[in-house]
Amino acid sequence: MSQPIADHPHTDPGDGRTECDVCGKYVWPATHSCKGVPVTERALARLRKRQAYPTEQCRSCPAQIIWAVTERGKPMPVNAEPVPGGNVLLTERHGQLTAVVVPAHRAFGRKDLRTSHFVDCPDAAKWRRR
Ligand SMILES: [Zn+2]
Ligand SMILES: [Zn+2]
Repeated sequence: MSQPIADHPHTDPGDGRTECDVCGKYVWPATHSCKGVPVTERALARLRKRQAYPTEQCRSCPAQIIWAVTERGKPMPVNAEPVPGGNVLLTERHGQLTAVVVPAHRAFGRKDLRTSHFVDCPDAAKWRRR
């Protein structure tokens, strides 16, 4: 087991450290080894901008969704906004936007995950029967 490492500040400590563009921590860029995970709201907003996926309105309800495919290649609507407690990771695979379901123990505490729109669409029952 690794020792817990003192975390970098999430706000400007005023000692010359600069904000990491990716994770949002205030770091010395020369020694910072970024884990690539945004920890501040600002860093998260930047990540979202970079990951601006095309959204559209669901055909059955007013929700904004993103169409992706499952790992098996089936079309799947994903809610556009990431939510705490989400378990769907959007990632590009072979040029396809792919929805990967993250196991609960790895999804815990993440804020970049979305949920399947099948789960909360009022018309989901209709969709599933297809
Ligand atoms: Zn960083
Ligand atoms: Zn819907």
